[in-house]
Amino acid sequence: MNEKVKILGVPIDNIDREGVLLKLVGFLEGESLKKVYTPNPEIVMLAQQDQELYRILHEADLVLPDGIGLIIASKLKKLGLQQRITGIDTMDSLLQYCGQKGKSVFIVGGKPGTAEIACKNIERKYSGIKIAGFHHGYFKEEDEAGILDKINSGNTDILFVCLGAPKQEKWIDKYKNHLNCKIAMGVGGSVDIYAGTAKRAPVLFQKLGLEWFYRLAKEPWRAKRMAVLPQFLIRFIIKQ
Ligand code: UDP
Repeated sequence: MNEKVKILGVPIDNIDREGVLLKLVGFLEGESLKKVYTPNPEIVMLAQQDQELYRILHEADLVLPDGIGLIIASKLKKLGLQQRITGIDTMDSLLQYCGQKGKSVFIVGGKPGTAEIACKNIERKYSGIKIAGFHHGYFKEEDEAGILDKINSGNTDILFVCLGAPKQEKWIDKYKNHLNCKIAMGVGGSVDIYAGTAKRAPVLFQKLGLEWFYRLAKEPWRAKRMAVLPQFLIRFIIKQ
């Protein structure tokens, strides 16, 4: 078993990419639903005030550090987090595995039409994969039973929930006892990347840990959300 590192009380799995895939394959062979989340500093900060989110992150089966700020924090206090592991990279390796093994995936989230295009692109890219279904992420509460039905009747192995944080984490938690799949994973805007409606930062930015900067340049309205990063580091230095 890998150890957990606590960042401002939020337990993050200290694991490398190979270890993550091994763990996820194990989850796929298990009997019960496993919940996987990929927080960044913004979510860790949100969890300081949002007790429900804090509890959900504690009850997760795998929590991956999707944010360079978490690695910087870990380095500052020598907590030993091995590397940044993004939701989209993890989703990518899972999809590849699903293609090889004929596993099925379902995507919930994104604007109407986006999940459908994402699924078509995924089907084309990862031959052998089964698309159990998709649903956009702008539904009403009364539609949720129907969505659960679609997920369960499609024999879904992996459910990717792309509602943004903390909505996706709370949605998975709300239905954890009603989902028949093996893995439910919150992966934010990944649906937009697979649909081609959003682009990932160039590899150089990814390697330098500057993906956030690229995103900020492309989507300047994120500045307010991202301003939380220095606040996170200050709080971490003082409180941890
Ligand atoms: N979204 C959704 N339903 C909502 C709110 C958001 O499906 O009620 C989708 C949105 O269309 C986008 C994704 O959730 O595809 C979240 O994107 P964002 O990049 O904001 O998430 P992050 O990865 O930053 O948490």
